Amino acid sequence: MNTLTMGTPLPQGKSIFGSSYGSRPHVGFRRVTTQHPCPVCGGKKWCQVTQDGRLAHCMREACGAIKQAKDDGYIHVLIHDDTLAMSVTRNANAFDRNRNLKTELAPLEIRDAVYSKLLELSPAWKYERELVTAPDGLLARGFAADDVMRFGALPACVNERDALAHRVNQIVADELPLYATTRGGVTVLGVPGFWEGTGGIPKLGRPTKYRSPVLTVPYRDERGNIQACQLRFPFVGKTKSSYVWLSTAEDKLDKEPRGTSSGSPLHFALRAGSYINDLPILITEGALKAEAFVALRPTMRAIATAGVGVAHTEIIAATRGRDTIIAFDSDHRQNKNVCRQLAKLVAERAVDARRIESNASTGIVVWEGAKGIDDAVLANLHLRVLDAAAWFQNLPNESAEEVSVVWQNYGFAPDAEASPNDGQEKKA
Ligand SMILES: [Zn+2]
Repeated sequence: MNTLTMGTPLPQGKSIFGSSYGSRPHVGFRRVTTQHPCPVCGGKKWCQVTQDGRLAHCMREACGAIKQAKDDGYIHVLIHDDTLAMSVTRNANAFDRNRNLKTELAPLEIRDAVYSKLLELSPAWKYERELVTAPDGLLARGFAADDVMRFGALPACVNERDALAHRVNQIVADELPLYATTRGGVTVLGVPGFWEGTGGIPKLGRPTKYRSPVLTVPYRDERGNIQACQLRFPFVGKTKSSYVWLSTAEDKLDKEPRGTSSGSPLHFALRAGSYINDLPILITEGALKAEAFVALRPTMRAIATAGVGVAHTEIIAATRGRDTIIAFDSDHRQNKNVCRQLAKLVAERAVDARRIESNASTGIVVWEGAKGIDDAVLANLHLRVLDAAAWFQNLPNESAEEVSVVWQNYGFAPDAEASPNDGQEKKA
């Protein structure tokens, strides 16, 4: 059984933690609870945290610990820096009253500064074996070594993510002292993915351990500013790879206090100096796919949404008056939902084009034999660009019925639309 109880001094103070920690005579531990789970493992029982939030005695997680505790469990340093510790302790009480409130989204320049620093301090290269050279890693998707620098990584261990959050917070606070003052020293709050841990320390990502390091995929606006990030969890065992926003949903605020939601911004993928303005803009789903596409076809630009049904209004605005080709996954013709979303996007663009009297075309890219457009390009498959009418004619019956209903609702009829490529195929 655990010998550390409320009010006991730090375990073996001076010998482990040196004079700065050892000189605090009576910083007691308190047990974690449902409201205040363990900042290391996320557990609600057994583990303990010091009152000032500097140290955790976690009973489960060895990863990232500075020391194995005498009885059982592991000692983790949560805050390394004295001044930050004092400022967050001072602010902790004020914050505590509002713990389950979300933090308002930070301005774009702050998000960009914080995420840029995060990518710099924790690049994908740091986990080369897991994220870069693995069978489903970046190189296998067709990225060159230079492209890998566009992506970051989050460590699997909570403790390492805490240290990262702390460093990013400190560096950005030093660079933007005025802004830091308005945030009580916790500059990263308001940047989706960051939230406030026990004692006010900045935290990053889920409150529990990941099974492996995860890839960080930035979502950039047209000027290259990072608005948000997605995490790609790799293929581990039988678990398929998956994407989630680095973000705190409203219903997760009890676990990630004072977090912020990312929303679903678009990603603009382009190679400055390489793309040709006259070529159509490709629309696809997922920033990684869009990046892989332009890495292989640098003369083209791509815009990615997080999903086929997401952010249509933003896509319409971003591609207004420009020729566009849509490249959703090739199973879209069999998948009624994807088909419906694609038809909706085509009709919405047509309605918008009619309103502003633009004759910009909307093509649909089709191919056989690979799922994503990036895989298709990598495998050098034959890509065909169809106009809406030709695409519609080639749909299986079930999907065609779905599309008809959508288009009727929008008063859209493909044959009536002017398109420079009517009935023709061209190579993308
Ligand atoms: Zn724990």
